[in-house]
This record gives sequence, structure tokens and C-alpha cells, in this order.
Amino acid sequence: MTTTLAFAAQNPETPLAPMKIQRRAVGPDDVAIDILYCGVCHSDLHTARNEWNNTLYPSVPGHEIVGRVSAVGSSVTQFKVGDVAGVGCMVDSCRHCASCGESLEQYCESGFTGTYNGPVFGGENTFGGYSQHIVVDQRFVLQIRHSAEQLAAVAPLLCAGITTYSPLRQWKVGPGQKVGIVGLGGLGHMGVKIAAAMGAHVVLFTTSPNKRDDALRLGASEVVVSKNADEMAAHASSFDFILNTVAAPHDLNPFLNLLKRDATLCLVGAPDSPHPPADVFGLIFKRRRIAGSLIGGIAETQEMLDFCAEHGIVSDIEVIPMQAINQAYERMLKSDVKYRFVIDMASLA
Ligand code: NAP
Ligand code: ZN
Ligand code: ZN
Repeated sequence: MTTTLAFAAQNPETPLAPMKIQRRAVGPDDVAIDILYCGVCHSDLHTARNEWNNTLYPSVPGHEIVGRVSAVGSSVTQFKVGDVAGVGCMVDSCRHCASCGESLEQYCESGFTGTYNGPVFGGENTFGGYSQHIVVDQRFVLQIRHSAEQLAAVAPLLCAGITTYSPLRQWKVGPGQKVGIVGLGGLGHMGVKIAAAMGAHVVLFTTSPNKRDDALRLGASEVVVSKNADEMAAHASSFDFILNTVAAPHDLNPFLNLLKRDATLCLVGAPDSPHPPADVFGLIFKRRRIAGSLIGGIAETQEMLDFCAEHGIVSDIEVIPMQAINQAYERMLKSDVKYRFVIDMASLA
């Protein structure tokens, strides 16, 4: 066991604060990583504040981890000391159910082990990336092929990147398709970049008119202010696919009405209370679908990282010291970040 410094929430109300935690000794299949950067996902905030009513305290959030390998176990083949490595939202799964067998560990029938707040069904509480050091089984560690100066901006790919890449691939987004991304936050801005790189015509929906120029710069071909009914009506029944990343409950019907026949609105945003009901007639008259998607499997996460490296895609970030995390959460709630906070873990030393 090694002791490492982390930032933890002790309960839903008080700010995150320093705490010493233990990491397990490096086993034969383990990779030990000195964390360089950790992105700040809205799920970290939902968890720290127990907004999903499942938080195990103390809670050390953080599942967008990039670091340097400091030790490897005797059976580790793909990593060596000094390599740059990534860890995303999962650190284990049952490894033998049908989902695990199809490299879809995020849908593991026993429940995957989250990088933090896992295992979901009892057992010990895992501690995430708001810390100096982590030990992870090699099967859940990712190769990073971006250049050294991009590493801070690579961290958010480990959750925001894969959570948008996976549904865009699942619904076969590509050239000739009109694709909507709802919400220009951490997930949404990655969705815009990735869907544009896949060759789609990307329309960004936002509640923040001041994000229009950024969305166009990031790769959107058009921007629609979703509160403006006229702007929305101009796109009626025209979309092949819409990916909704919004972190708060809202009316889905205006977006459903923008889908073509047989097209899908996929939800990845995970608000703390349900959306108002979808209009059944809006669904049945055009055989439209509402779907959901959860992060992505480990193999697909590696595919996404390689796709992003090849296309020069990283996140747009604001680097913060660990000590600024509580202010960062408040700013994230106000949508006041372009477009992902990333913690420089050197600040914890
Ligand atoms: P974020 O950076 O805070 O972005 C969320 C965006 O949603 C905001 O930038 C804003 O975009 C829009 N928004 C926020 N409040 C809104 C409201 N009341 N009405 C309408 N739009 C609103 O959050 P994130 O890190 O991208 O995460 C987004 C959600 O995805 C969170 O709920 C998170 O827990 C969830 N998540 C899910 C998965 C998964 O596997 N499914 C993985 C990671 C995260 P505009 O200003 O452009 O409107
Ligand atoms: Zn996340
Ligand atoms: Zn499984």
C-alpha cells in the first residue's frame, strides 16, 4: 500500500478538501500511474454532492486521468515505466458476462467498477483521479499517442470524448448526415469536434447565444439557440441523429420534432431528476426513437483516443490547481468554462 494525497468530499454540503488515501500495492497485472492531469466532469459534481443518491463518502472524484507510469507488475506487457497512460471512467468489470465478452464493459451485467464511487453494489469505495497516484489493472489502462504538450487537453477525452464518440459511432454518423449536438459544455464541445471529424453536417443547439462563435470555430456548421422557437422550427424533421448532453431536466419534445422518420435522439446527459415526458404522438408518427448511451468500452476508448490523435483533436481547456476545484464546480454550474476544467496535479505536491 502507498499513501497518496487527494481531494475528497466528506459529505454533500462541505467543500472538497485535502485527504490522505491508500493505493493498493502493485499486483502482477497492475500499472501504477503518477497523475499529471485530471479533467473535471459534471458527473464529478453530481457525485461529490450526492445528486444521484448513490455517493459513498469520502468521495474522491475524477475519471479523466492522464499520467506517467511509475511501476508495472510482472505480467504487464503493454506499458513500461515512463510511458504516458490514461484512465477513464472504469477500472474493472466482471470480465466474463456477455457485455464484457463484447468489449462493452460499461454495460457489464454485474456492474462495472467505476474509477470512483465503485463498485456500485457494495464492496470498497474506489477513489478517483483528484489525487497524485493511482493503481489500475492493465486491461483498463489506455495508451496515449498525442504529443507531450497536448497531455492536459487529452485528459477530457477519457470521459467527455468517449461518451460522445461511442453513440456517434453506434448510430454510424458520417458524411451526408445532419447531426445535432445539444449543449456546448464538456461533452458537447467534444461531440461537435468528433462529429465534424466524422464528416457530418453538425448543428449545435445551445441555451447560451454567446457560444455561437465558439461552436462554429469548434466545427459546427450551424448554431441554433434552442430557446428560440422560430430557429428551431426551421429545422423540423430534418435530423438523422441528435446527441443530447444537457446536465439538467428539460423538455425533449422540441428536439424530437427535429428528427426525420426513424431517426434517434440519444441522451447522454444524466440530470438528477427526470425530464418531462416525451410526446407519444411525436414518436409514433415518424417512428422516432429516444435512446441512451453510457461512456464506452475500453477497446472503443482506445479507438477514440487514436481517432482523436490522428485528427488532431483535443479538448478546449482551462487548467486549474487542485485547490480551485470548489470554485470550478460553481463556475461549471453557470456554464462558465471553455469548455473543460483540467486539474494540474503538480499543484498537489
Ligand atoms: P457541462 O460541461 O456542465 O455541460 C452541460 C451543458 O448543458 C452546459 O454547458 C449547457 O450548454 C447545458 N445546460 C446546462 N444546464 C442547462 C439547463 N438548465 N437547460 C438547458 N441546457 C443546460 O457538463 P458535462 O460534463 O458536459 O456533462 C453533461 C452531462 O452528461 C452531466 O449530467 C453528466 O453527468 C453526464 N455524463 C454522462 C455520461 C454518460 O456516460 N452518459 C458521461 C459523462 C457525463 P449550453 O450553455 O450550450 O446550453
Ligand atoms: Zn465523466
Ligand atoms: Zn461483465
